[in-house]
Amino acid sequence: MSICYVNGSYEEKTSAAISIQDRGFNFSDGVYEVMSFSGNSVINFDKHVKRLSKSLDSLRIKKPLSNYKSLELILKKLIKENKLDKGFIYLQITRGSCSRNHLFPKLSKPNIVIFTFTAKLDKKFILSGVKVRLTEDLRWKRCDIKSISLLPNVLEKQNAFEEGMYESWQTRNDLITEGSTSNAFIVNRNGFIQTHPANNFILGGVTRDTLIEIAKKNKIKVVEKAFSSSDLFLSREAFLTSTTAKILPVVKINKKNIGNGKPGQMTQALIKMYNELVKCQIHE
Ligand code: PMP
Repeated sequence: MSICYVNGSYEEKTSAAISIQDRGFNFSDGVYEVMSFSGNSVINFDKHVKRLSKSLDSLRIKKPLSNYKSLELILKKLIKENKLDKGFIYLQITRGSCSRNHLFPKLSKPNIVIFTFTAKLDKKFILSGVKVRLTEDLRWKRCDIKSISLLPNVLEKQNAFEEGMYESWQTRNDLITEGSTSNAFIVNRNGFIQTHPANNFILGGVTRDTLIEIAKKNKIKVVEKAFSSSDLFLSREAFLTSTTAKILPVVKINKKNIGNGKPGQMTQALIKMYNELVKCQIHE
């Protein structure tokens, strides 16, 4: 049994349903969030809620819940009902259900679906690092909205998998924007952490923002400036961040080693610091 939340009711996940007139289904007209939890605590909840609110406002979708305290209560109930001590939450809000027409519906209410899931990260990825390929960024110019329209991301993740790699890093005019499912970082030749600025060409990752905060707190210099493929090949270290993968060392790009082809020291230190911070958010 797995219990999910659909528009106010708690239902069995495999039989829960939503209208075929849902605008998410017809137009990808919706947004989503993926959060991680441990015990009863949703990690980085405030940052996820802030991004969700920004995504909804950008698409002019009404907020289905009156406040974020009620959302937190729903998430905690789902965690409890599903008897999971660790895992992830998927939340999706669409503009609602109505007969198919590109124009916004006048009367429909947003549809909200929330479910929990588990995903095991291969320990090898953390210990030995992952391989990444470079590819052209084919996406639109509002990648800052966490839209459910994910076709380019799906295709590039699949291409990476088929080439024996973990991720595709996308480039615009030879500047690395971000991965298909994660944010991209290097430790540059000066020893500074460098990543694309949080503008409309990337999703402002919650893990990205948290990592930047941790680095700054520990007096590690962070430069939010896009880096090129040659900066990448000359970098000391590379890594990626996402809610599901946390921080993963990147040791090879397009078959070329980064540094000595092993997870770098700075990356390993950041992984430790990040894990400590997550531990502090867990209140059993
Ligand atoms: N960029 C993209 C395109 C993503 O899909 C994700 C994961 N949802 C991220 C970055 C990382 O964001 P977060 O750290 O909030 O999971």
